[in-house]
Amino acid sequence: MTELKNKVAIVTGGSRGIGAAISLELAKQGVKIVLNYVSRPELAEKMVAEIQEFGGEAFAVQADVSNSDDAARLVQAAVEHFGKLDILVNNAGITRDSTFKKLSEEDWRKVIDVNLNSVFNTTSPALQHLLESDGGRIINISSIIGQAGGFGQTNYAAAKAGLIGYTKSLALELAKSNVTVNAICPGFIGTEMVQAIPEKVLDGIVAKIPQKRLGTPQEIGRGVVFLCKDGAYITGQQLNINGGLYM
Ligand code: NAD
Repeated sequence: MTELKNKVAIVTGGSRGIGAAISLELAKQGVKIVLNYVSRPELAEKMVAEIQEFGGEAFAVQADVSNSDDAARLVQAAVEHFGKLDILVNNAGITRDSTFKKLSEEDWRKVIDVNLNSVFNTTSPALQHLLESDGGRIINISSIIGQAGGFGQTNYAAAKAGLIGYTKSLALELAKSNVTVNAICPGFIGTEMVQAIPEKVLDGIVAKIPQKRLGTPQEIGRGVVFLCKDGAYITGQQLNINGGLYM
C-alpha cells in the first residue's frame, strides 16, 4: 500500500462534480491538491476552503486545459508551489450532445479538445515530474460512453474511447518506470453534466441500471484513491464504476 500523505496531485476540472469529489477524497488521505478550474472561481475557492477546513492543503489554478500553454502553466504552478508532482488526474470534460446529422464541426472539435487533447497538454509537461516520484499515478476519467457508445454522442464517445487507447499505450510505455496509467469509466453519476439530461430520458437510463440508481461523485473519488493507494500493480486498466450498466 502506498502512503498518500504529502503526495501532490493535480485534479483538472476539480471545482465541481466528480473532480471536486476526487479532490476531497484525495485530500482526506493527506494529498496536497492543485485544484484546476476554467470558470466560476467561487466554486474552486469554496472547494479549497472546504479542504483547508479539515487541515488539508490545496490551492486553485485557473487554466483551460484544452490550451497547451495554460496546461503547462498549471503543471508549473503545482511544482513551484509544492516542489513535486505525484498524481495527475485528467478529469476535465464537457459534452456537446447532438445526433451526427446535426453535429457542427465546432462541437466536434470542442469536445475532442477538452476531453482528449487536454490529456496530451497536461501529461507532456507533467511526465518528467511523475517519473521522479516514488509512485507516480496518471488517472484519466473516461466514460461508459467510450466503451458502449451513446446516442447523440459521437464526439464525446470518440474522445472517451480515445482516452482508453491512450491509457493502455502510455501504460505500456511507462510500465518499467514507477508510473501507472489507468482510466476510470464512470456510468451515470449525479452531477451537473447528468442533470442536463431531460428528466424523462434520465428516468429511462436509471431504469436500465442494474443497481437502479445513479452513482455518486464520491464513489468515483474513492476509485481514484484506490488506484493511488493500492494500485502499484494495476496499470493500463479501465476501472468501471457504473452500477453494473456495462460489464
Ligand atoms: P461537470 O460538468 O460537473 O464538471 C466538469 C468539470 O470540468 C468542471 O469543473 C469544469 O469547469 C471542468 N472543465 C470543463 N472544461 C474545462 C477546461 N477546458 N479546462 C479545465 N477544466 C474544464 O461534469 P462531471 O460530471 O463532474 O464530469 C467530470 C468528468 O467525468 C468528465 O470528464 C466527464 O466526461 C466524466 N464523466 C462524467 C459522467 C457523469 O455521469 N457525470 C459519466 C462518465 C464520465
